[in-house]
Amino acid sequence: MDKKGILVVVSGFSGAGKGTIMKRLLADYPDHYALSISATTREPRPGESHGREYFFVSQAEFEEMIEKDALIEYARYVDNYYGTPKDYVHRQLEAGRDVILEIEIQGALKVKAAYPDTLLMFVSPPNAEELRERLVNRGTEDAATIASRLKRAWQEAQGVEQYDYFVINDILEECVQEVHHIIRNEHARVARNHAVIENIRAQLKGFAEGE
Ligand code: 5GP
Repeated sequence: MDKKGILVVVSGFSGAGKGTIMKRLLADYPDHYALSISATTREPRPGESHGREYFFVSQAEFEEMIEKDALIEYARYVDNYYGTPKDYVHRQLEAGRDVILEIEIQGALKVKAAYPDTLLMFVSPPNAEELRERLVNRGTEDAATIASRLKRAWQEAQGVEQYDYFVINDILEECVQEVHHIIRNEHARVARNHAVIENIRAQLKGFAEGE
């Protein structure tokens, strides 16, 4: 009963803890999920490496990917380009894995337009003050960048209604389980099971006619 994977977009304010949730989800369920690695023109943060968190590329390299139609979507976010390479996503979906794209809202809506059966999930901290504290405590951005990320968060908050699910990241372990269950349930939708249903119908027809 092998099926194609589901494309899942996870968005959320910068500092909402999406990255941590996704890492944990993959560690807990390595056979179920694949995480898409984006290309970006921003500088790596300390501890980040090329090909793990992102493919860190120059502006010229990024523009070449756009030209070659090698990206599912791309967007500009706080002065940098971010985009999702096509190849890997398609291969993982074919292999039956649910592919998670951790991308911001403009990209999420472009993916949904191109692939309408995409599941859109929005992750938020319990409140805005918590978000600010997480950004400050991360210690990787200067005050101006934190300010522009908070402004961007306010803009993104206007688009939450376009998502299918809203998940609060308060206790990490609970949040990971919630995300996992939402995706598993999505597999049970009638609309995603037409082939299996048709198959069972055909078999039943055979039984019925044999009687
Ligand atoms: P950060 O610089 O904090 O790693 O990411 C900034 C924002 O860019 C986050 O909201 C992240 O989800 C988003 N992002 C990361 N990769 C992509 C991508 O491939 N496409 C789009 N549209 N957004 C992305």
